[in-house]
This record gives sequence, C-alpha cells and structure tokens, in this order.
Amino acid sequence: MNKENKTELLGMNIAELEKYLLSLGQPRFRSKQIYGWIYRKDISSFYEMSDIPRDLRENLDENAEISIPRVLKQRVANDNTRKFLLEMKDKKKVETVLIPQNREGNDRYTICISTQVGCPIGCVFCATGASGFQRNLKSYEMVGQILGSRRELAKRLKLQDNQLITNVVYMGMGEPMLNIEEVLKSINMINDHRGINIGQRHITLSTAGEVKGIQRLAREKLQVTLAISLHACNNQLRNQLIPLNRKYPLEILMQAVAYYIEYTGRRVTFEYIMLDGVNMGLNDAQAMIKLIKPLLANVNLIPYNEVNGLDFKRPTPSQIMRFNKWLVEGGLNVTLREERGADIEAACGQLAAKRER
Ligand code: SAH
Ligand code: SF4
Repeated sequence: MNKENKTELLGMNIAELEKYLLSLGQPRFRSKQIYGWIYRKDISSFYEMSDIPRDLRENLDENAEISIPRVLKQRVANDNTRKFLLEMKDKKKVETVLIPQNREGNDRYTICISTQVGCPIGCVFCATGASGFQRNLKSYEMVGQILGSRRELAKRLKLQDNQLITNVVYMGMGEPMLNIEEVLKSINMINDHRGINIGQRHITLSTAGEVKGIQRLAREKLQVTLAISLHACNNQLRNQLIPLNRKYPLEILMQAVAYYIEYTGRRVTFEYIMLDGVNMGLNDAQAMIKLIKPLLANVNLIPYNEVNGLDFKRPTPSQIMRFNKWLVEGGLNVTLREERGADIEAACGQLAAKRER
C-alpha cells in the first residue's frame, strides 16, 4: 500500500535515523545497518536490506521512503563528461554533471551538484541565472544527486562500485550560500565514513560572494575549499555582472574572505571567468594582483562558456594566454581551468534544466 507523507530517510544522519528507529521500537544498532544500505549499497527497495528482519522491512516499506532522484535524461560529451537531468519528489528538475578524471571515463569522477532549482542572483552571463529561481534544495536532494548519479553511472559502466565519485563541487545550479544550512548538512553526510565517505578536502563550495554565508562557513572550520566567483575587480563592472555585488561590494567581500582565511587557515580560490572585451585588460590584471596578492589564495581562470541568447563571448586562446601571463608575472598563483563537457552544455554556467524537455 502506498501511504502519503512517508518519513524521508534520505538526509537523516545516524543520530536522526536512530531516533526514528527507536520510535518504531527498534534497537539502536539497526540505524548503522540501514545507514550503510542507503549510502553504500545501491538498493531500490527496503526488501533488499537482507540483514534486517522482515517485519521491520515491511514497516519501513509502508511508512518510510528513500527518495533518490530519478535520472530523466543524460547526455555524454566527447570527453565522457556526463550531464544528468534529475527529477525530485515534487517533479522539480535539476542538473548534475559528472566529470571523469581521465578522458576515457573509466576512472574516478568529480560531481558538480546543484543547491537550488534555478538561482535568484541573476548573474548576467549565467544560464541558470537567466532561468529564474524556484526553490532551495534540501540536503537529502543534494546527497540524492550523488546517489542517483552514482547508480546510473555504475549501471552504464557496468561496474559495481560505490567509490566511483571521489570529489564534489557545489558549482551546479544555484547559490550554495543562500541555502547554507542545508548545504552544511549535506557536507556532513557526504563526509560520513559510514556512508558516502568523501573527505572534506575533496569538497569545494563556490559562491558569488554571499558574505553572511562565508562568515557562517568560516565558523564551521571545515577542511573544504571555498571558491569565490570574482569575475571583476572593480565595483562598477562587478555590479553589472553579479547583481549581488550591490549588496556586498568588493571591499566588504574581500574583508570577509580575509577573515575566512585568518580564521580557518585555509587557502581560498578565486574563480575568474574570462569574458572577451569585458574583463581582460591590463588594468583588470593589475587590479586583480593588487586585490589578491596579499591573500593566501589561488586564481582559477575559466574561459567563458557561451550561452545561447546571452551576449558574452569567449576570448581567443592567445588573449587567454596573455591575461594569464600578466597575472603570473604579477606574482599570483594561477591555474587555467580545462574545459570539459562544453559540447553537451555541461560546462560551468550552461546549466538550465528549464530548457530541457
Ligand atoms: N552560484 C555559485 C556556484 C554555481 S556557478 C557561484 O556563482 O559561484 C559555478 C561557477 O560557474 C561560478 O564561478 C560561475 O560564475 C561560473 N559560471 C557561470 N556561468 C558561466 C559560463 N557561462 N561560463 C563559465 N563559467 C560560468
Ligand atoms: Fe547563480 Fe552562480 Fe549563476 Fe550567478 S553564476 S546566477 S550566483 S548560479
């Protein structure tokens, strides 16, 4: 029998699961068993939990659920990057991208997860921003993106392997810092060695510069990497590109980043999208050097991925090299992001599930 309003088990940590099972009159140790089944095995029914007594399995089947999002669609790029369209319980859709660490695609994967359906920030260069905002995702829906994608990937690769995904980047649809409590819960869960077991150092959180969230994350003193989407080094240009800059201008953002570094002792990454004719002049490079050199930080240069209907252009390779050289000569630690999955619009900022039918 299908009951409405079943208890969602996905997203519960061991303590919460224990509490739920105690309420059913079950012994404590069952929570670890069930937790293992949810996160380490790929099951699609409570009846597959072979070491759980039959009456409990029946009880769970009737009263609880594990809502791993369904993969509605997938596209595979030439470099084996995969983009999944995942459907949540309420039929809302988000995109998740899996990027193999080698181009043959038989290796370990980095997963790029979404934190919101759409995004309220509305950066003018971003496909997600252009698609509007619908709602925040719950932590179980973030974790669910990993489980749903891992299941599909293992099936496609014909592998039984729950360690296929080794790195997580919160760089899909949405602004993680506007949903920080659920994001923190999801990190905890991803991190738990009894479950998905991905180390904090393998997790990166990217923000357009939501200062309250940066301060909140600092207080957690996690070992995750904080990435800041910079994209412009003066307020006039940054206001145009990232509307959030009007609320938290560069001086305030940089103060928050300096506080984060001091408080956590962790190196941060500044992401910088290169937009042809917009933010790649010598003056931009000089402004960036002045802003970032005093900090414990890396710069990650990202060639813009063009989006249908938006006016921005990707620079040429020689423009990219020139800009890179200015920054390196100025003493910054720079990496150039390798492009992955652009032929299936799975690259950064090309995610907009709304356009998928
Ligand atoms: N909202 C967060 C995280 C998701 S976006 C943020 O903005 O940081 C992840 C990264 O992709 C950000 O650095 C974002 O600026 C960048 N991005 C957005 N659109 C892009 C595009 N079309 N090409 C390249 N990068 C893009
Ligand atoms: Fe939102 Fe990030 Fe896109 Fe800006 S770049 S609209 S913050 S997802």
